[in-house]
Amino acid sequence: MSRVVVIGGGAAGMMAAVSAAECGNRVTLLEKNEKLGKKIYITGKGRCNFTNACDREEFFDKIVTNPRFLYSAFHTFSNEDAMAFFENRGMPVKVERGNRAFPVSDHASDVTKVLSDEMKRLGVTVRLRCEVSGIETVPYRGTGKKDTWNAAVSGVRLSHGETVPADVIIVATGGLSYPSTGSTGDGYRFAEKAGHTVTKRSPSLVSLSAQEPFCSELMGLTLRNVGVRFVKQDETLYEDFGELLFTHKGVSGPVVLSATGKVSGRLTGSRLLINLKPALSEEQLDARLVREFTGGASKQLRTILGALVPSAMADFVLKQAGIEPTVRGAEVTRQMRASLSSALRNFTLTITGLGGYQEAVVTKGGVAVTEINPKTMESKLVRGLRFAGELLDVDGLTGGFNLQIAWSTGYLAGRIKEQEAKAMSINIAIDGPAGAGKSTIAKAVAKRLGYIYVDTGAMYRTIALYLLRKGIKADDTEAIGKAGREAEVSIDYVNGEQQVLLFGENVSGLIRTEEVGNMASASSVNKDIRDKMADLQRELARTKNVVMDGRDIGTNVLPNAQVKVYLTASVEVRAMRRVKEYEQKGIRADYEQVAKDIEERDYRDMHREHAPLCRAGDAVLLDTSDMTIEEVEDAMIRIIEEKLSAKQ
Ligand SMILES: Cc1cc2nc3c(=O)[nH]c(=O)nc-3n(C[C@H](O)[C@H](O)[C@H](O)COP(=O)(O)OP(=O)(O)OC[C@H]3O[C@@H](n4cnc5c(N)ncnc54)[C@H](O)[C@@H]3O)c2cc1C
Repeated sequence: MSRVVVIGGGAAGMMAAVSAAECGNRVTLLEKNEKLGKKIYITGKGRCNFTNACDREEFFDKIVTNPRFLYSAFHTFSNEDAMAFFENRGMPVKVERGNRAFPVSDHASDVTKVLSDEMKRLGVTVRLRCEVSGIETVPYRGTGKKDTWNAAVSGVRLSHGETVPADVIIVATGGLSYPSTGSTGDGYRFAEKAGHTVTKRSPSLVSLSAQEPFCSELMGLTLRNVGVRFVKQDETLYEDFGELLFTHKGVSGPVVLSATGKVSGRLTGSRLLINLKPALSEEQLDARLVREFTGGASKQLRTILGALVPSAMADFVLKQAGIEPTVRGAEVTRQMRASLSSALRNFTLTITGLGGYQEAVVTKGGVAVTEINPKTMESKLVRGLRFAGELLDVDGLTGGFNLQIAWSTGYLAGRIKEQEAKAMSINIAIDGPAGAGKSTIAKAVAKRLGYIYVDTGAMYRTIALYLLRKGIKADDTEAIGKAGREAEVSIDYVNGEQQVLLFGENVSGLIRTEEVGNMASASSVNKDIRDKMADLQRELARTKNVVMDGRDIGTNVLPNAQVKVYLTASVEVRAMRRVKEYEQKGIRADYEQVAKDIEERDYRDMHREHAPLCRAGDAVLLDTSDMTIEEVEDAMIRIIEEKLSAKQ
């Protein structure tokens, strides 16, 4: 089980959290807004066109940027999977014109509710009003030739200072469009900081501004079934047929959005030619005009034209044709008719620019897909870092394709398998004699790295508590071995603190007594108990980044740990430290006696039959006799970074 942190509670993030939790991971989703899916609420004009029911080929036709990168993601979680996912979770689905899929209720909130309920069911921890300010990594030492990682994630930093440890981080912070929904581009910064390339971004699926002032007079007018052609220096940039809408400063509507989706960067400075009568050929249109003018010989052209185009447009069409609107039908010359036909077929606007992110449906550009594994969504640079959704350099046209990108990439990013987690774990083993400050240092280092501190002493004390509860004497070796084998000890973590459970009972608060300590000292030499505890400790280290301290961690428990440190200090220094500790607790202690006890303990630990204390051949020796705690901590971090960055 990995600790997975998802950044962003939008479409991609929620789906990633569901998918990761389904895979048995412990998932936390962090969202800076006060609620989940703020953007989903406004999609499809509040109805959420959550996918498109087209076939696979058409789907990839509608993906404008890097469609091939999405093959695996779509294969793993297709549009059909998305529809089934929502339907199976109590949200009936309908398919409308253009294969657009919506919830039958027409409520976008139903989509968010399904995901939010599913996260709850799967035990995902959702933290709202929780803004991530950065991603923390540690140097990574690869284990194979194919490894391209030079760092591994260790946790995320929140803006209020807290660190949330993580084995896997899924960044799903969206793009830059509609920043009021929370998509303010934070993920690009995280990606760049981690060494990723972020391609140039621009608003896409967005309205266009035009030079012609009449647009504001036509504002709100929708032209259905018109042909559009964007032309620049005789080159046709984009051609389409469909619906167009006039806005106060230009044009919008499906055909315009699609044009920006396809060729946004080149549209500024182009001419938009609108064919108001695309169903008629030039000859048919001319014949139609002749008919209209003959029938309305005494009527003004602006009135006659009202039968062919929306009446609000008539004067502007005539102006582009160079004809006075008051001219009567009977007065129209052949040349005038040709000019009018041309204006109807090529009603022209001059495009001056694209709308901003405030009104763009999506962001074009983003985290470069060449640096991401398309089969896992994992970074090729930082182990355990994954990306999903709109912040990737992928985008599609309108019609449900962008949300499908979020579902597919989110779902795939969440497929974190046990095997991957296993290969990912980093183990730091700290051994040394009693009183060398191992547990204090191990705890501090684990906190700084965002790793788990495994308190092995607490495990032995838990067994000792069981032995005491059973009334077993410290010298009854046989009874200790038997009871040790039957004791059921397990570990849990609450707020990053290790808890020890004895037959499911949390006994963390009961094991710190002297009586338990003495029993632990006597019973921990027992082979059965040591083997059992070592198995439990190895199991923890198999899937998690851990810092573990003890006497045989580097030699016996985790012989393959990436970093091993042998922490020691002179007997005199250790004795002084121990005396001070006693004094702080108000206990008077005799220095000579304490030093003698330490010497005896060292001898016992080094000469015991099973897994005696000794420095592993590849352990770094750190003598702390003349060092402060802070100096030891810094030295440890340096050793760890050096060891982890030393690639094979
Ligand atoms: C008006 C509008 C209508 C649309 N309609 C449709 C449609 O009908 N069909 C369709 O397919 N697509 C539609 N889209 C596009 C679609 O909504 C997006 O492509 C999709 O929602 C992107 O999902 P995402 O999860 O990647 O990002 P987002 O939905 O943007 O989610 C990102 C989340 O991350 C959070 N976040 C960001 N930074 C941090 C941080 N530092 N810490 C914590 N949390 C953070 C944000 O608050 C946000 O909740 C529409 C878009 C708009 C703007």
